[in-house]
Amino acid sequence: LLDDDGTARTTIFAEMSALAASTGSINLGQGFPDYPGPVEVTDAAQREIANGNNQYPPGRGMAVLREAIAEHQKRFYGLVVDPDTEVLVTAGATEALSAAILALVEPGDEVLTFEPFYDEYGAVIGLADGIHTTVRLRSPDFAPDHDDLRAAVTDRTRLIIVNTPHNPTGAVFDRETLQLIVELAERHDALIVTDEVYEHLHYDGSTHTPIATLPGAAERTITISSGGKTFNTTGWKIGWVIATAPLISAIVAVKQFLTYVNGAPFQPAIAAGLQLPDAFYRDLASDLAGKRDLLAGGLRAAGFDITLPRAGYFIVADAAPLGYDDGGAFCRALPELAGVVAVPISAFCLPGSAGQYGSLVRFAFCKRLEVLEQASEQLARLS
Ligand code: PMP
Ligand code: GLN
Repeated sequence: LLDDDGTARTTIFAEMSALAASTGSINLGQGFPDYPGPVEVTDAAQREIANGNNQYPPGRGMAVLREAIAEHQKRFYGLVVDPDTEVLVTAGATEALSAAILALVEPGDEVLTFEPFYDEYGAVIGLADGIHTTVRLRSPDFAPDHDDLRAAVTDRTRLIIVNTPHNPTGAVFDRETLQLIVELAERHDALIVTDEVYEHLHYDGSTHTPIATLPGAAERTITISSGGKTFNTTGWKIGWVIATAPLISAIVAVKQFLTYVNGAPFQPAIAAGLQLPDAFYRDLASDLAGKRDLLAGGLRAAGFDITLPRAGYFIVADAAPLGYDDGGAFCRALPELAGVVAVPISAFCLPGSAGQYGSLVRFAFCKRLEVLEQASEQLARLS
């Protein structure tokens, strides 16, 4: 986590957002919306602050939010969870992941992720002294090969970290893959951590299957999500964990010393969001599908090969047809070439695998249409 001279290494997202700011480029690097969330949610937070909900809330989260999370799982997925013992509110999905990994991984345990992977997984596996193993996802569809998966899970595997919809590729794991993950976890007595922060961002009729809904899965699955992507409130950092009561207890034991408690006024506001009608969730996805299509058109016109994602915030584009083999070098040059910032897929890899994803880069489309139009115009300079 430190450079040779002892300075903290910045994450690729912070680095690329700083590059966008310093060069005045359009930031399609870091995944955050540049438009507000629903007024029901933002007004609720302001009301909570005005009404004095500004002190430490309960450590497991305010009851109104834990109940709304349980109700959300029932409404969308038919899952029954006890809001008192099986739900924990955290500082975003980020803390949920850190607390879960630190609570459940002993030094030397193997933790399997799919690769490319969200950068935090690798960092926290390292903090827990775990051993990070991966199954590579390959373009164009980024679906895991089942034989690779069978070979990767062993009796040494403590956790399998699943992320569907997937960051950075937008891949959605199919039911057969999720079923195989559950079978392998059962056979090797591993736990499943599932990062579902993009659960409501599915396009073209794609639907979300939480792995906890599969037979035999719930008892060994730690489900993680967040209000950030669903309500355009990535800066509020309200996330959650859902798991059996003993697993939640183990995770609370760590969480209480990471942040103790989280943003009191934001908790009832996110609860209000979770209670919004189905139409809100449909509009959220159809709006993002339009943004995806606009940016996809711009990237294709500029000469990139792209895989159209069925979910999430991001499009993976191959810069090789434009003559660039190294995505990192391409992303560093892109502000000057086109006034746009993107993130190389190699930043989501173990050092030994970065070459596998050489010319692939990630563009975020969770931006206003006029911003995506402007970016597309500027990217046309590349062709
Ligand atoms: N997991 C994935 C896959 C993500 O993309 C993100 C957000 N960038 C997070 C976790 C972190 O979520 P939060 O902002 O709620 O901490
Ligand atoms: N999840 C967002 C992304 O992947 C932001 C992550 C971050 O800034 N840590 O771009």
